[in-house]
Amino acid sequence: MRVIQPAVLGLALMAAMGVAQATPDAQDTDARGVKISEAAYPGTIVLDVDATDLNQRVFKVRQTVPVQAGLQRFHYPAWLPGNHSPTGALDKLAGLVVTANGQRLEWVRDPIDVYTFNVQVPEGVSELKMDYQFLSPTSSAEGRAVMTPNMLNLQWNAMVLYPAAHAAHAITYQANARYPQGWEAASALEVASRDGDTVHYAPASLEVLVDSPVFAGRYHRTFDLAPAGTRPVRLNVFADRAKDLEAKPEHLEQHRALVAQARKLFGAEHYDHYDYLFAVTDQLGGIGLEHQRSSEDSEGRDYFSGWDAKVGSSDLLGHEYTHSWDGKYRRPRDLATLHYNVPMQGSLLWVYEGQTQYWGNVLTGRSGLRPLDASRDALALVAATYADNRPGLEWRALADTTNDPVIARRRPKPYRGYQMSEDYYQGGQMLWLEADVRIRKLSGGKRSLDDFARTFFGQNDGQWERPDTYIFEDVVAALEKVQPTGDWSQFLHDRLDRKVGLTGGIEASGWKLVYSDKPSAYYKAMSKGRGASFIYSLGLALDSTGRIGEVRWDSPAFNAGFGTGMQVLAVNDLQYSADELEEAVRAAKDGKQPIHLLVKDMDVYRTLDIDYHGGLRYPSLERIPGSTDYLTPILSARK
Ligand SMILES: [Zn+2]
Repeated sequence: MRVIQPAVLGLALMAAMGVAQATPDAQDTDARGVKISEAAYPGTIVLDVDATDLNQRVFKVRQTVPVQAGLQRFHYPAWLPGNHSPTGALDKLAGLVVTANGQRLEWVRDPIDVYTFNVQVPEGVSELKMDYQFLSPTSSAEGRAVMTPNMLNLQWNAMVLYPAAHAAHAITYQANARYPQGWEAASALEVASRDGDTVHYAPASLEVLVDSPVFAGRYHRTFDLAPAGTRPVRLNVFADRAKDLEAKPEHLEQHRALVAQARKLFGAEHYDHYDYLFAVTDQLGGIGLEHQRSSEDSEGRDYFSGWDAKVGSSDLLGHEYTHSWDGKYRRPRDLATLHYNVPMQGSLLWVYEGQTQYWGNVLTGRSGLRPLDASRDALALVAATYADNRPGLEWRALADTTNDPVIARRRPKPYRGYQMSEDYYQGGQMLWLEADVRIRKLSGGKRSLDDFARTFFGQNDGQWERPDTYIFEDVVAALEKVQPTGDWSQFLHDRLDRKVGLTGGIEASGWKLVYSDKPSAYYKAMSKGRGASFIYSLGLALDSTGRIGEVRWDSPAFNAGFGTGMQVLAVNDLQYSADELEEAVRAAKDGKQPIHLLVKDMDVYRTLDIDYHGGLRYPSLERIPGSTDYLTPILSARK
């Protein structure tokens, strides 16, 4: 039995309140209390997926499983890596028929664990055939679209029913997939052979299979992102239209610089090859999901064609690539479950996602994918959030938000700043910025968080098969090794447990948060198509029709009676538009009259006045004269 220490966040407080921790062994047993074995499952499971039904969007699956007589339990994956929550799309599984030696066997679902199917296997049977379908969403109301007329996203976790009580790394699968005629497919999985439109993949553990999804499509191009690198890194692009695949050489150079800068940062790679599965699409459902040797990513159709107008507004590729080190190879112990049907615990998501958010943005800056001034403008938005739009920190600690993937499952929230959501991303980014500047200051510029990245994520070059797990104390020890202070544990706890604010890294880096009446180019690119934000002035964010998506808690609008979901129809008696409201806020700055708004609240029309005279306010960063500028070196390319 392995000795496993539980995660420690808030442990003292939980103990004082008599809150029971999950026992260290909780992850080693399933919902029925059965111990999960790490011994190899006997035999190889063959998985055949027919992914050619573009009309009905149905994936047809046959699974052939070696078995022994007796009760056999099969799980459909519930807890998905990277989602950190039980989001397996069980409702899309249909048509399950189990046969053995040509005879049909009945199955019974486990009533307390509905992701589990029981089959009584008769004597003399050594193999089951399980046929079923995955009915992929045909509209966004049903879930994320994974099949369109021009591309598909095959996620193996949605296709398997795996034997219970066995670790995912101990079950061997051999997968075959048939794709629509003439389509290209990309995945981190090794291809054993091709037979027309059917790809036979090399045998792999269930863990590697689930971690190696496929993008396939009609329009496809592959770009080499590491021509001089130690291991291949490929950008596999799939598009709705062939012309959306056109990338200019200078843009590809920035993508290559991302790979080179990551290698400089971590000093090692945890893959034998890395494949970006990248859709530029308005049809496939949006995704950014990390894997050890690949990631599933999507951006709009204009990713390449509209490049220059974007001002580096996306850090997606930098973020997901960082996860190969932070999250996949180095993984919090309480997220590294033996299979997908025991609960994952996210107590260290402020490292897994928080530091990835930090490096994703830093690497996007260092690679040139985002200009330096845009990097500062991006950071200003995060700083403003934690300086002025997280009243939720009055009642909820950053550490507690690591439970949000399970609590909220990314459903929209009416008062996000007050409720808080997955704040461990950007709150974590703030925390790591402050840690970085602290190391730079204390070491007189000799060391930085780059050294932590190399120490913590960059060991064991070339290793990738199994994650290397860690607990809170390991993070503290690595920080102490980089910059001994004796108080890194306290530093982290103070910020995670809301004893200390989260914006200390901004001023420490030689910059301060200010508001100006003009949005930056980055801000405009970022909010393009998302309506208008008056969140730091009136306290309102609206879509293009004037519908209010968010009211900042305790803001002028909030205190004037505005609620999320209302629609603004008129501004000072003129029909609503973002320009009209902007003009009204500007004019009110020099006057005494309130801003007069006609609002529709379901079928009730009302007028509400906001007595606000502070003008337009958009966040930006300004140098503190005479101070050392730590931020510019952080965001600049390493030689
Ligand atoms: Zn992430």
